[in-house]
Amino acid sequence: MYRYQDTEINVVQGDITKVKVEAIVNAANNTLLGGGGVDGAIHRAGGRIILEQCKKIGGCPTGEARITVGGNLPCKYVIHTVGPIYKDGKSGEEELLYNAYYNSLKLAKEYNLDSVAFPSISTGAYGYPIEKAVKVAVKAVLDFIEEEDFPRQVKFVLFSERDFSIYDNYLKEVLKEN
Ligand code: ADP
Repeated sequence: MYRYQDTEINVVQGDITKVKVEAIVNAANNTLLGGGGVDGAIHRAGGRIILEQCKKIGGCPTGEARITVGGNLPCKYVIHTVGPIYKDGKSGEEELLYNAYYNSLKLAKEYNLDSVAFPSISTGAYGYPIEKAVKVAVKAVLDFIEEEDFPRQVKFVLFSERDFSIYDNYLKEVLKEN
């Protein structure tokens, strides 16, 4: 468990569809019509209502975020964001990834959802190296907390043991564990 200002930050290994928070974030694609990886898992576990609401929303530009209900998931809402496809690291990937995290938290604040779980956006099919991505993810979250004093809790949910260790080691470096 980590703390930054008044926010509790946790790093956990597991399946984000099982996490009980007010909002989970989905690493979606521009169509918002579902896909593989964490996106597929969220749509499968959440049920059709999520896809129906995504269809009405009609897509999402990279770096932005949109919101639907959680359907059958234990969370109330799903915040769908779209991370960048990693090319060479010089094509605006860092800013787009930062925006994906930051804009997800902005939407959480608008809906007053004060516990939010993130997967590792862009580091699966989209190929963003996780050792680089973790720094961007943590910076965006800490910046948001500093600027908005929100949310009360953030969970980083990593599917693999390796990803979990990378996140946990990085947070240990940046924040003091307590
Ligand atoms: P992207 O297209 O943004 O790269 P992916 O879903 O392919 O998204 O991968 C993002 C990360 O989500 C990967 O590290 C993958 O292992 C992880 N992941 C896949 N399924 C789940 C799940 N159910 N819960 C949490 N993380 C997951």
